[in-house]
Amino acid sequence: MSDGVGAPPRGRFSKASVRDAEVEGRRVLVRVDFNVPLADGTVEDDTRIRAALPTIELLRERGAAVVLVSHLGRPQGRDPALSMRPVGKSLAELAGAEVEQAPAVIGGDVERMAAALRPGELLLLENSRFEPGETRNDPELADALAALGDVYVNDAFGAAHRAHATTAAVAERMPGYAGLLLEREVRELTALVEDAERPLVVVLGGAKVSDKIGVIERFLEIADEILIGGAMCFSFFRAQGVATGDSMVDSEDVEPARRALNAAEGAACELRLPVDLVLADRFEAGAERREHDGVEVPAGWMGLDVGPDTAHAYARSIASAATVLWNGPMGVFELEPFAAGTRTVAEAVAAATGKTVVGGGDSVAALQRFGLADQVDWLSTGGGASLELLEGKRLPGVEALLDAEPAPCPPAADARASEQGSQ
Ligand code: ADP
Ligand code: MG
Repeated sequence: MSDGVGAPPRGRFSKASVRDAEVEGRRVLVRVDFNVPLADGTVEDDTRIRAALPTIELLRERGAAVVLVSHLGRPQGRDPALSMRPVGKSLAELAGAEVEQAPAVIGGDVERMAAALRPGELLLLENSRFEPGETRNDPELADALAALGDVYVNDAFGAAHRAHATTAAVAERMPGYAGLLLEREVRELTALVEDAERPLVVVLGGAKVSDKIGVIERFLEIADEILIGGAMCFSFFRAQGVATGDSMVDSEDVEPARRALNAAEGAACELRLPVDLVLADRFEAGAERREHDGVEVPAGWMGLDVGPDTAHAYARSIASAATVLWNGPMGVFELEPFAAGTRTVAEAVAAATGKTVVGGGDSVAALQRFGLADQVDWLSTGGGASLELLEGKRLPGVEALLDAEPAPCPPAADARASEQGSQ
């Protein structure tokens, strides 16, 4: 939580940071990612709320009045089941401060509440998607949002790949700064593609090749090894003409898999597929389970996990890497009989001496389930935004922020001294 508030981040980050914003006595509109899972009207997992606390604390300590806005779920209009109220309660407990709850996203009442805020106080707006203009990046909604503050901060990395009114249009109307979480996410993920220490090993699993093909293609040019697991390996096997039985293969995934296999032919990076599997006769914890040497899946069976030889080979690569990126479980880890491959990889990532970064909601959930989440260097909160940044796409929510001042030139005296030194 104390991370980085004082120390400016290493590495390149081209946007102005909330650390450098003048906020004392001002009202700061902060876009946060409070899109948390709810159960029975309470917050089931407060990870995203906790991730926003450093920025909120920084602003309060510096005497800003803080107006928070986030989306929650996918409401069609005003849906009381997706009100921010439970989030406000959870935030109040975590921040140890009172959180005023606005009755709407914008409007006269909300403006009056925002105007009355004093330094250090918190106001939480209603679910931004209650306003149909949010996902349309509507200028009028952005005008109304901009009326609620003097300065804008975006800390919602998880929403930064969307050009919505609270992430894009509003930033054109106010001086916009990067929050601490967004800044760290961009820095950590950019470092992976721009200057990772080698060997760089990328472990990719999960459901669909098409979700991650952009990342596969980018890292085929950058990484030393890409290790494939999860359901997506079956699209690769299908593309190679290997029998996949009843394993999960999405027909739209086979072509991207073939493309990646072709690209891997000429690449310095090695694209590795499983060499053994764990099969089941149906998609259930109680299914008949069979460890299968080889990757041909017989009719009537489906692959639900990578086999032990694959998992241990991947673990050895992870152990000898200087940098590891992991995104996507190796199997159906939610069912204990098919969790071993994911657990072996998770343990290897946790034990690795290299720098480790894990992204993807289900991969992070797997780490948490195994009690290993605190042994990873960076857990990305991003999901889709992380993948798009790793693919090399520009994120609208980041692009809309103010550019940082260029770094000052080295003083002339230093330049002379080093010139002399080299003669
Ligand atoms: P992440 O959220 O980490 O990016 P994905 O959403 O891409 O991961 O995929 C996670 C899901 O993939 C998990 O729910 C897991 O059960 C499923 N999965 C992994 N391997 C298989 C498999 N062999 N067959 C079916 N589903 C699988
Ligand atoms: Mg997922």
